[in-house]
Amino acid sequence: MVKLTGVAKVYPGGVTALTGADLTVWAGELAAIVGPSGSGKSTLLNLVGTLDRPTSGMVRIAGHDVGTLSDRKLSALRASTIGFVFQQFHLAAGVSAVDNVADGLLYAGVPRARRRRLAEAALHRVGLGHRLGHRPHELSGGERQRVAIARAVVGEPALLLADEPTGNLDTAAGAGIVALLRELSTAGTTVVVITHDTELAAGLPRQIRVRDGRIHADASTKPRHANRSHSPQTGRGTGQAVIR
Ligand code: ADP
Repeated sequence: MVKLTGVAKVYPGGVTALTGADLTVWAGELAAIVGPSGSGKSTLLNLVGTLDRPTSGMVRIAGHDVGTLSDRKLSALRASTIGFVFQQFHLAAGVSAVDNVADGLLYAGVPRARRRRLAEAALHRVGLGHRLGHRPHELSGGERQRVAIARAVVGEPALLLADEPTGNLDTAAGAGIVALLRELSTAGTTVVVITHDTELAAGLPRQIRVRDGRIHADASTKPRHANRSHSPQTGRGTGQAVIR
């Protein structure tokens, strides 16, 4: 689903935010990109989300070499393949949950009535079938994040990118969101969670650790016997992730 080869990102002004990044995320994985503030997580998210292009190296998403695509094709790939969830929810104020979710299909050319039906189904999927008409200020933080997740998955993207999805939530609501991301992953969506929360990351099957602009470790917590090809491995000290 995601393959980065020798990726670097240098921002104007000379800040090297990411360097030598090699990373493969297979379809159906649930992985955390974890690291302290300033380590390069958002830069990595922007590259994987095709919101930005690398200074050097190759980014492939769902088999497409992002560097060879025009802006229009890149937007189309993003719209069809990637859903985004952010810490700040980014819901439209004063707009019902169902309309917030239906807006996630605006650019997919889906007729209005069908957008609504799919939005209702997505809200049922995230456990909010009883809150269809509620507006953001009438929802709890955890419920707002569920609406945001419903909006991100209403178009059935293969890849869901969640940037600090529990950052604004209390522990119980955060745990509910992690459980929901697990359910989506089990149902086949590839889920990548960006977080500085090492506890949250430790609860996910794979942790990709970023520090000082480098992927410095990549570990799976799956039991060794569960799947030999996903046995625990680290690339610590090599400056590169283990490619799987
Ligand atoms: P994180 O998400 O882990 O906090 P970032 O990817 O946002 O880290 O930032 C990595 C480094 O790149 C930091 O030193 C940051 O100051 C720098 N940086 C991020 N975005 C930009 C930008 N648009 N222009 C210049 N420097 C940036």
